[in-house]
Amino acid sequence: MRIEEELKLDYSDVLFRPKRSTLKSRKDVNLLRTYRFKYSKNEWSGIPIMAANMDGVGELTIAEKLNDHQMITCLTKQHDVKKIKQNKNIKKIYPNIALSVGIKKEDFQNLDKVLKEFSFFKFICIDVANGYSEHFTNFIKSVREKYPTKTIIAGNVVTADMTQELVLSGADIVKVGIGPGSVCTTRIQTGVGYPQLSAVIECADAAHGLGAHVIADGGCTCPGDVAKGFGGGADFVMLGGMLAGHDEGKGKVVKVNGSKYIEFYGSSSEVANKKHYGGLADYRSSEGRKVRVKYRGKINDTVLNILGGVRSSCTYVGAPSLKQLSKCTTFVRVSNQFNDTFVK
Ligand code: 5GP
Repeated sequence: MRIEEELKLDYSDVLFRPKRSTLKSRKDVNLLRTYRFKYSKNEWSGIPIMAANMDGVGELTIAEKLNDHQMITCLTKQHDVKKIKQNKNIKKIYPNIALSVGIKKEDFQNLDKVLKEFSFFKFICIDVANGYSEHFTNFIKSVREKYPTKTIIAGNVVTADMTQELVLSGADIVKVGIGPGSVCTTRIQTGVGYPQLSAVIECADAAHGLGAHVIADGGCTCPGDVAKGFGGGADFVMLGGMLAGHDEGKGKVVKVNGSKYIEFYGSSSEVANKKHYGGLADYRSSEGRKVRVKYRGKINDTVLNILGGVRSSCTYVGAPSLKQLSKCTTFVRVSNQFNDTFVK
């Protein structure tokens, strides 16, 4: 047994230190980024905030709205040819869509079918809860071999060594985060995890050294956390809970004491397993929960609020664009983030 003594940080452990700036207004801040990916050589431009591949968030109806802001939506694994065909705007929005695939044989077969029918999709997200297995890296290698020109996202991991391993196996973008998610119970069920901001900082450094990119996946509770992810070096930030609870997610609406809520659940929760796979296998336990998110109306309002927050973070630290945010970032460690007198 060994204990690592070095302090690791979550978003809630830090704040940005404000810096002298020549920026006049937050509207002058440019959030657009352009990336060229290591293996696919594809170029993508947009605002690098992504919707997670979770029910109620990773949906085509959400993708249509996020596309207006040049933001990416990672569709759930359940998007097959039939479901995608039903969307009339797919030829317009596909540059900002990522297809998801697990490492099961059926998942890969579905991906093949979708790409055969719609070869224009550019992003493939190979998504597993635990990205540390040899089977997973071998799977990435086989997808890379079969689809050399697609941009491959792979995860999740939280350490520099495994980030490098995934990149060397063929991932253009590594997805970072184990346990920080709003409906994730991995830390409770298994005791495994890594404070998210430190994971992002360490994995970004490892990926950038190899010319690859990272996604900070999970754990953002407010626009400030999204900015902290970018400040820590993330190329993309992925959101689940913050984009849940909207009309476009088409989730189940429930009324409690006259207030409207929308059901939201983890991808490996019992609800999700029942819905998609007919239940949980005996040897597994659920590592996600179901919650009720207060109904929040149109997703566009939420997106504008998030983008406004990130722009404002940039002005506070003197970053004229999102690209400069990380360079302009000094985090101060805090023991208290905000005054919650009227929140309780
Ligand atoms: P959030 O933005 O809600 O904090 O986090 C979203 C992320 O949580 C997803 O992108 C995914 O990585 C993770 N996640 C989603 N569902 C589950 C689940 O059931 N269990 C675990 N461990 N993580 C989940």
